[in-house]
Amino acid sequence: MSSSPNHASNASQNQIVNVALDVPLERLFDYLSGNLSLRIGQRVEVPFGNRKMVGIVMGFSQHSDYALDKLKTISRSFDDEPILDETTFRLMRFCADYYQYPFGQALLAILPARLRQLKPAPMLRIFAYRLSPEALKCAELQQQIPARQVVQRKLLLALQEGEKTEAQLKQLSSVWQKALMALMAQGWVEKFEWQASAPTHFPLNAQTLNAEQQAAVTGVLAQLSQFQAFLLYGVTGSGKTEVYMQILQQVLQKPDSQALILLPEINLTPQLEARFRQRFPHIPLVTLHSHLSDGERLHHWHQAQTGRARIVIGTRLSVFTPMPKLAIIIVDEEHDASFKQQDSMRYHARDIALVRAQQANVPILLGSATPSLESWQNAETGKFKRMVLPQRAVENASLPSIYTLNTATLPLQNGLSQPLIQALKVRLERGEQSLLFINRRGYAPVLLCSACHWIAPCSRCSSRLVVHLKQGKLRCHHCGHEQSIVRQCPSCGNADLQATGQGTQRLEETLVKLFPQAKIARVDRDTISRKDALSDLLDKVHAQEIDILVGTQILAKGHDFPNLTLVGVLDTDSALFSPDFRASERLFAQLMQVAGRAGRADKAGEVLIQTSFPEHPLFTALVQQDYANYASKLMEERAIASFPPYTFMALIRAEATQYRDVDAFLQLAYAQVRAQAKQVTCYPPMRAQMERLKGMERGQIVLQSQQRGALQKLLSQLIAPLRESKLASRVRWHVDVDPMEF
Ligand code: ADP
Ligand code: ZN
Ligand code: ZN
Repeated sequence: MSSSPNHASNASQNQIVNVALDVPLERLFDYLSGNLSLRIGQRVEVPFGNRKMVGIVMGFSQHSDYALDKLKTISRSFDDEPILDETTFRLMRFCADYYQYPFGQALLAILPARLRQLKPAPMLRIFAYRLSPEALKCAELQQQIPARQVVQRKLLLALQEGEKTEAQLKQLSSVWQKALMALMAQGWVEKFEWQASAPTHFPLNAQTLNAEQQAAVTGVLAQLSQFQAFLLYGVTGSGKTEVYMQILQQVLQKPDSQALILLPEINLTPQLEARFRQRFPHIPLVTLHSHLSDGERLHHWHQAQTGRARIVIGTRLSVFTPMPKLAIIIVDEEHDASFKQQDSMRYHARDIALVRAQQANVPILLGSATPSLESWQNAETGKFKRMVLPQRAVENASLPSIYTLNTATLPLQNGLSQPLIQALKVRLERGEQSLLFINRRGYAPVLLCSACHWIAPCSRCSSRLVVHLKQGKLRCHHCGHEQSIVRQCPSCGNADLQATGQGTQRLEETLVKLFPQAKIARVDRDTISRKDALSDLLDKVHAQEIDILVGTQILAKGHDFPNLTLVGVLDTDSALFSPDFRASERLFAQLMQVAGRAGRADKAGEVLIQTSFPEHPLFTALVQQDYANYASKLMEERAIASFPPYTFMALIRAEATQYRDVDAFLQLAYAQVRAQAKQVTCYPPMRAQMERLKGMERGQIVLQSQQRGALQKLLSQLIAPLRESKLASRVRWHVDVDPMEF
């Protein structure tokens, strides 16, 4: 064990340096500084076993638990400046303890890939573009460009507002580069090296807030200099984003301030980025998400870490981005399950954001139309301040009308009921757009033998293969396994195999047959795997080049289609009876969100939900659009069942090729828990809901407690002996604190 680091900021010659490394051990490693002059937070290269590793200097100490002559010397330091500081160490210390994850691994994982490589990471220069002196002199600049050069004109128009970075121009078109080159060749535009220290200047294109929005803004602004969590509960289209922007407008007036905005989905970042850039054209803004190249990510991260970027918009991992002047955190769509990381350190970005706001003593604003029950509970008890936006912000835009269509009695034509087909037809006649939501990609969810009821299974998972007819394949959506469609039942030899049920492909096919004249587009993970595919498609929707959209939940979130007036929902009933206790909370959120796509502007929207259970409380609440009511119903159920948010949970999961190894390990863990548990309930080992995945047999034990602290204590005592046990070497296992999947 290394002694705890002291916080002298510099090492003198050949001092002992405590270094964090990406190794699965709960400790720091001691090295000698040699003749390097090092600072805390600096990135170094160290010898480790017979390889080299990247480490972070955590501190310096007078003595080591190891003999001095056994200590190795740090090979070199990489960057001129430290890249991390105590604030980040403290946050990662919390995470490592809370999620039972080795500190060094947690810490190194937050670095952009380039900073985890064994080489210096020169910071990129960023270039920007502005009108040339000739262009500025030209009175009718737009007329100089032929009208058919739409993109060139668009770029010029943007540059007439002011200089733009590459990232900003990229927002305007997918073929921006070619257009830009043409403009530069003609001498209208010039390139220069951009500095992030632009003066603060606020344009006045903000909306006049309605009373509820104003109350929300005022409420947050009243508590800017201390930690306070706010829950902004506002229906879709109620103007939450406008509230965020007006709060930032005030916060960013202080030159020494940065704002962190977290979004659940990478697909939402371009839209929000565009809105924020438009509102704050002179405020340096960066995004952080997985569609950036390694170089871009490093650059953006560095802008945030040095305090130059004032607004950081990112997905879950960016909750860890060092921001020395952090003044506020906003978590949009806070209920969204994608904030939870499902491997390595299984953190929840919303929860970490709360801890971070507390540590930094700044306010945090959580926004949602359907808050998580965890946050709802915190608002009920007064821990969070709740602010409500009960109606849509745009004048004359009302909430859509929601109806159910009973599929237990209505006949279906390839999954579609007559009233839904009729409603689609009416929209086509009126030149309005429709969206059909079905949460299953592919053609059909199962391939079924009509004679013996054999269903094509995945050989590696306890799941069924999904029919992808266009590709002629059967695919497992859990492990990616793919095979040709079988023509004959392997069980009875029957050749009549039927693709049964609905998927996006089949729905698209049905619609093409029903409405041959309509322009139909399908949006799911198979069609938008390309980076710009979704934004190109959204452009088409806005240009009215699409009549009917068929898609999965990718479409449900955040997109704003003014001419879309019908939403149809198919086949969501299985979630009503899922063994996952959060399934109905999620389904409600998802349907509310997809319903929110209808009638965003001044056209009334209609939502038709096909279900065999129209009487289910979820649908009655949905039809009334009364989340508060449904939330309190769900809370009662959770209280009775002792589920979160009334209790805290953790799982110990294990998997192996043989279930008996899994069971032996889990029995050991279970016995240890039983011996030590105070105020913690533990259930005996059981199979995971998905019993087999990628060829591995899976099991788990569930731990539950009324006291977070008791559960934490137990886990921390449990982990070390489990790590050392022989049985552990025969399985892959991990702890999941506050699990979202079972
Ligand atoms: P949310 O984030 O809650 O879905 P948005 O902030 O995107 O809502 O607002 C929805 C629409 O309402 C946007 O077009 C926005 O410009 C508009 N809007 C927001 N606030 C106002 C307001 N106070 N007056 C008029 N329009 C508004
Ligand atoms: Zn058969
Ligand atoms: Zn599989």
